[in-house]
Amino acid sequence: MNTNFDLNGLVRPNVAKLKPYSSARDEFQSTGTEMVFLDANENPFQTDVNRYPDPQQRTLKAELAKIKGVAQENILLGNGSDEVLDLIFRAFCEPKIDNVITLPPTYGMYAVLANINDVENREIELTPGFQPNISNILEVVDRNSKIIFLCSPNNPTGNSFSEEGVLDILENFSGLVVIDEAYIDFSKHPSWLKKLQTYPNLVITQTLSKAYGMAGIRLGICYASKEIIGVLNKIKPPYNVNELSQLRALKRITNMDEVKQEVAIILEERTRLFKALLDVKFIQKIFESDANFILIKVDDATKRYSEMLEMGIVIRNRTTQPLCENTLRLTVGTAAENDRLIKALKAIN
Ligand SMILES: *Cc1c(COP(=O)(O)O)cnc(C)c1O
Repeated sequence: MNTNFDLNGLVRPNVAKLKPYSSARDEFQSTGTEMVFLDANENPFQTDVNRYPDPQQRTLKAELAKIKGVAQENILLGNGSDEVLDLIFRAFCEPKIDNVITLPPTYGMYAVLANINDVENREIELTPGFQPNISNILEVVDRNSKIIFLCSPNNPTGNSFSEEGVLDILENFSGLVVIDEAYIDFSKHPSWLKKLQTYPNLVITQTLSKAYGMAGIRLGICYASKEIIGVLNKIKPPYNVNELSQLRALKRITNMDEVKQEVAIILEERTRLFKALLDVKFIQKIFESDANFILIKVDDATKRYSEMLEMGIVIRNRTTQPLCENTLRLTVGTAAENDRLIKALKAIN
């Protein structure tokens, strides 16, 4: 438990006062009987998408709630996790006054969103073992620190944060602790979802962009207390998840066997790729991965990146990130793609 947590004190005053826009679909939902909908100025002729989508995505949330073992009232959906993260900034961080804490090297969007929202970003580097530096984090926290972003498994390092470290932050920080679990389905560690009831300051984000194979539909998920979800619901655009995305997501998550099969293959491929990388001479270190990518340290990342491009293979150069000098990030592809990757790496050796 974190006994110092006070949600009302965290929400921006303008958001606390806000009366949200009430859409036509908020005011009247279909009850299943034959109603005539003349309330939203839609075109009445059928195109399959002539009606506005459900602003609360009830069908999709019901299915997600079942799969994840979370109540629907603890879920908010967004146009990718990027929208979810932006909503969290806008609900809790007063521009020019509040600050957030991020732990580089990590996902670049936290810093970008802090900049867009004009919120100070206090960056506390991970330890050399890529774990949160707890004492340094708690030292920079002040009363305007609203959010700490933890990415676990972390992008681009690929490792998960230790349970003790995360617990330390959850127990000792009275702002929001956002754990970005974009890669959780590839991890040997369990999700933090089961701790949602224990920690009122815990916010978890997930996405359909990685393990679920749906980056194109932009579907991000936020799990938090009913109260936090209520705040985010107040400020989200009414129809932020479009009808096509809702339908495609539903179709995919009602076929979880397929998703699990693909994840299993990616994990096997990750192991195979890891072993093959051991034979590439210019690779100096291969970092253990809990995600669908592997970070490697090489002799000259920029040179190797260009050579790989010439071989027709696009990887990510992470050399400018702190603690990531001369590193490259390799996404695990299909077996055939990984074969090409390995062949190319050996060819430029
Ligand atoms: C890829 C990724 C996401 C996904 O963002 P979407 O907007 O949902 O596609 C979120 N967080 C991290 C750390 C990622 O690497």
